[in-house]
Amino acid sequence: MGFKIKKQHDTPGDTGTTEQVQTTVAPPTAAQTAAAPPPGSTPSWMKTGADADAAFEQQSANKAEFGNALDKRKQLPWEFFMKPGEEKRITFLDGHLSTDPAEQGRLLYSAFRFHTVRNVKFPNKWDTYVCLADEPDGCPLCEAGDESTWVAVFPIIDHTPFKKQDGSTVQHEIKLFVAKSITMKLLQKKAAKLGGLAYQTFDMSRTDAKMARVGDQMEHVGEAPLEALVKKFPQHGLPLGPDWYLKSVPYFTREEILAMGYGAQAPGQPGVGPLGNTTTPPPMGDTAIGANVPMDDDLPF
Ligand SMILES: [Zn+2]
Repeated sequence: MGFKIKKQHDTPGDTGTTEQVQTTVAPPTAAQTAAAPPPGSTPSWMKTGADADAAFEQQSANKAEFGNALDKRKQLPWEFFMKPGEEKRITFLDGHLSTDPAEQGRLLYSAFRFHTVRNVKFPNKWDTYVCLADEPDGCPLCEAGDESTWVAVFPIIDHTPFKKQDGSTVQHEIKLFVAKSITMKLLQKKAAKLGGLAYQTFDMSRTDAKMARVGDQMEHVGEAPLEALVKKFPQHGLPLGPDWYLKSVPYFTREEILAMGYGAQAPGQPGVGPLGNTTTPPPMGDTAIGANVPMDDDLPF
C-alpha cells in the first residue's frame, strides 16, 4: 500500500523557484513581554512591581487592623444612653470625693477627650473614639476635621432590662456613663450632697432630645452597699480596679482608626469618613422593655 505524495515540483506550472520571505519583526524584548508597563510610566491608580506588592501588603494590614478594631469594640462595655422621655435606674460603681481637706469634697473622676463620629459603613450608627491628639503620631479624627470633647467617664450598672437584637434580655449590665461638662455640674452637686456617687442608685430621666443622652434629671433612690452588690452580681468582679478605665474606654490606635475608614491623608486609605454633624448623635440601640426591677432588701433597685 503506497501513498502518493504530491511534491511541489510536481505541480504543473511550477517554476521550481522559491521566494525567500524576509522577516522584518525583531524578537520581543523582556520589557515587551511583561504584562505591565514599567513603574513610573503608569497612572497613579495603577500599581506595578514592588508598588503592587506594597499595595497588597497594605490591604492585608488594613484588614487585620479593621478586624482588631471590630474585636476591640465588641469587648467594650456599652455606653449608657436614654431616649428622650425615658427613665432608667442606675448605680454608680465609682465617683468618690477627695479626702484632701484642701479640695473641699471635690468629686474625683477620670477625663478623656472623645470623638463621636458616624460609622463609615453604617451612617445611622455613631461610634466614640478616644482622641489621640496627645499621642506622638497625632489623631486622624482631628486631622479629618472632627472636634473632640472632654468627657468624664464612670462605670455604672444599668438596672433597666433590655432586649438585644438576638432576642435575649439582659439586665444589670456594667456600662460606660459618659458625662459632658453640663452633666458634670449635676453630678458634682449630687456627689456633694451624698458624700460621693459611688454605690449610690439614681433614677435618671431625659426630658427631651436636646438634653444630655445620659439624662438631665437625677433622683436619688438610695444606697447600694458594695458588699450587697458583690453578692448579687458575682459576674461583675466588683469592686472594679483602676485598670477598668483603660480596658473600657474606646481607645483605638491610629492604624485601627484609619482602617475603620476615617482619616484624610493616609496613603491607601478610603478617605475621610462622613464626619460632620456630631452635635446630636441619636440613641445607639438598646431597647428598653420595661422597668419592673425586682426589689432586694439590701439594694434600692
Ligand atoms: Zn482627635
